[in-house]
Amino acid sequence: MSKIVMKFGGTSIATTDKIKHVATRISKEKAAGHEIVVVVSAMGKTTDELVRLANEISENPSKREMDMLLSTGEQVTMALLAIQLNQLGHEAISLTGWQAGLQTDLVHRNARIEKLDAKNILNLLSDNKIVIVAGFQGVSADGQITTLGRGGSDTTAVAIAASIEADVCDVYTDVDGIYTSDPRFVPTARKLDELEYDEMLELANLGAGVLSPRAVEFAKNHKIPLRVRSSYNEGIGTVLKGEVDLENNLVVRGVAFEADIVRLTMEYEVPFNDSLAKIFTTLAANHINVDIIVQSIVDGKKPTVSFSIKKEWLAETITVLESNKEALGFTFADFEVGLAKVSIVGSGMVSNPGVAAQMFDRLQKESIPVKMVSTSEIKVSVVIPQDDMIRAANALHDEFGLALV
Ligand code: ADP
Ligand code: ASP
Ligand code: MG
Repeated sequence: MSKIVMKFGGTSIATTDKIKHVATRISKEKAAGHEIVVVVSAMGKTTDELVRLANEISENPSKREMDMLLSTGEQVTMALLAIQLNQLGHEAISLTGWQAGLQTDLVHRNARIEKLDAKNILNLLSDNKIVIVAGFQGVSADGQITTLGRGGSDTTAVAIAASIEADVCDVYTDVDGIYTSDPRFVPTARKLDELEYDEMLELANLGAGVLSPRAVEFAKNHKIPLRVRSSYNEGIGTVLKGEVDLENNLVVRGVAFEADIVRLTMEYEVPFNDSLAKIFTTLAANHINVDIIVQSIVDGKKPTVSFSIKKEWLAETITVLESNKEALGFTFADFEVGLAKVSIVGSGMVSNPGVAAQMFDRLQKESIPVKMVSTSEIKVSVVIPQDDMIRAANALHDEFGLALV
């Protein structure tokens, strides 16, 4: 007998028919004698729809009320699934985040899990119940409902798996597993059988939406056996591991991309010493997440600092920069929209020089201009025009031998 966490994403439970299908799948695992906790997302695009409703009323709705609103999505699914499992003759019970013991900090819409007291879940499991938990939501120490940020049900699933010491955490979704790139946009993408936590963490942070980065981080830190599988077939999916052999000597394991990147540039009249510290301390104090930073000090030219951010942060960033212009000492600020980030990821890069050179060479052959570059031991990212994003992703996928042959 194993303890299993099964997480189902929005598309897998978008309709009552799909909920019935998922229930049959859960029923089979239960019949095999396992203890089962199910974590559910909201049905289909419910969360987007709820955000849209709120925005019909206000451009800047209260974050507390947004959490109240968004947390309802998952509650609909969990109850419907419990009703269907009961219908199939199982004892199933649904729990909200707080009933499941999931406590978070008080950062509405992007809360972090502080602790998970699994007492209630474990008691229900020992009563032979199938426990269904609403993903994406928790409660703060002072009783406020919070949500964990978009894609947060993955994090709920992994956190529950850790707290009940599950044998496996299966994330069921609308693709067969983790692919070398998003199969919706890179038709030659291949499903991977295994992938390292660190590689998936980079891919997720760099835009591969198949798993939320926080869930991967949590799984890595707690060594949770995490699998990504299809809701629609019995395939084994992709297993995340600490270390994976270099398959066919492929140095690059995946290509990720993200649209809606903006580059901001600030110019200074005179050379500066503390400007970098000042700018980024000010931005951090305002919770603005900066990505790639490039400082340029060249004799005979005015010094500049450029950095990239997500487009959703642009208005706030400009407000912060403008209102601190004098203290920060810059004379000119400009921004460029319509950019995207494309990245190659693979743990084999650590010991294989020349990967970045090969990437730049291919982009040049494709006439795709590179605006910014950032590297780590296991990835290289470039900022390029958004119009070239999908073409670049496909070209790099081909360049590094990832394409299906
Ligand atoms: P769910 O509703 O199950 O949480 P998501 O839409 O969040 O599903 O994640 C699954 C989607 O992630 C896939 O449909 C696919 O388009 C996208 N995706 C992006 N990158 C990858 C990748 N490298 N491998 C697999 N899927 C990816
Ligand atoms: N329903 C939430 C979202 O769409 C959480 C999730 O599905 O993981 O972001
Ligand atoms: Mg998801």
